[in-house]
Amino acid sequence: MTKAREQAPAEIDLGAFAAIVDLREGDALTAQIPGSIRVGRTDYARIASLIPAEDAPILVYCGIGEASRIAARELTQRGFTGAVSLLGGFRRWRSEGQPVTTIVPGRGGRYDRHMRLSEFGPEGHARVRAGRVLVIGAGGLGSPVIEYLAAAGVGTLGIVDGDRVDQGNLQRQILYGEGSVGMRKIDAARDRVGRLNSDVDVVPIASWLDPSNAHELLDGYQLAVDASDNFATRLAVNDAAAEMGIPFIHGAALQWEGMVAGFDPGPGPCYRCLFPDLPENEETCSDVGVLGPVTGVIGSLMAVEAMKHLIGSPDRLVDRLVTYDARSARFTTLRIDRSISCRIDHGSVKS
Ligand SMILES: [Zn+2]
Repeated sequence: MTKAREQAPAEIDLGAFAAIVDLREGDALTAQIPGSIRVGRTDYARIASLIPAEDAPILVYCGIGEASRIAARELTQRGFTGAVSLLGGFRRWRSEGQPVTTIVPGRGGRYDRHMRLSEFGPEGHARVRAGRVLVIGAGGLGSPVIEYLAAAGVGTLGIVDGDRVDQGNLQRQILYGEGSVGMRKIDAARDRVGRLNSDVDVVPIASWLDPSNAHELLDGYQLAVDASDNFATRLAVNDAAAEMGIPFIHGAALQWEGMVAGFDPGPGPCYRCLFPDLPENEETCSDVGVLGPVTGVIGSLMAVEAMKHLIGSPDRLVDRLVTYDARSARFTTLRIDRSISCRIDHGSVKS
């Protein structure tokens, strides 16, 4: 039987190892050997991926040296002849006064850069993980919204889109690739999110949102993100969100311009205060075009506002409209006023 190579703490030169793998389990660990990577103790595929060459030296350790001895033996049998187990484990390492680094609770891993933001931290991340967001439209605006919310680990992401991917989408709809052409957008989007972050629960809805189903689709979500491309859908989202007490973020992009706005239910203005009815001649991207990255700018702003909403940021974009003109590279912020003639019941009027 292959024997594991073992070294006592005093024999170890940390700089000599291509990787240092911490096999200890549990969330209560407070310290580790500097430069360690935590890996499940039987996740040999992951450990192997950390080894640059079969004979490269790699140190594995656990609490007392038992699990790491088994792992080192297994790795050696698999041809990784440089595997070394730390004799006596982390307990002996520390008791002999070897260097350790402190593990900050809730840090490390894929969400680390959010954890490090003082306004975000583990608490904000917990809110994001519990978040339920409905994205209406998986096109040019929806692509960055969906990708960023998925990457952030939003708990539940509902995606509404009744369309299929077409060649003409690929210039801006970065959720999709050439292999997606002809697929239902929600299927391609669900696949993409699945590859991006398995923490996220995607609810794909192959439908168009309209006044007849808006309440049903929005039900159970804490935030709606309107990334649709037409006024009828925007107004339907607005009306249902206002009636159901759900905040929503709106975005639109056309040619070289875009806008983003946020609306809370209640006495403040709503989207209908701004656009009371369907315009007579509605221009769309398929008629007059849009610069691809303009949808990326606006969709990213929408994703930012959605994240701020989830973590309870005090400075969300509400009752304000940000416009972006790509030609002049100018952003402008405008206040949105309540319209007295708005047909939405705004409750008590904000003076
Ligand atoms: Zn209104």
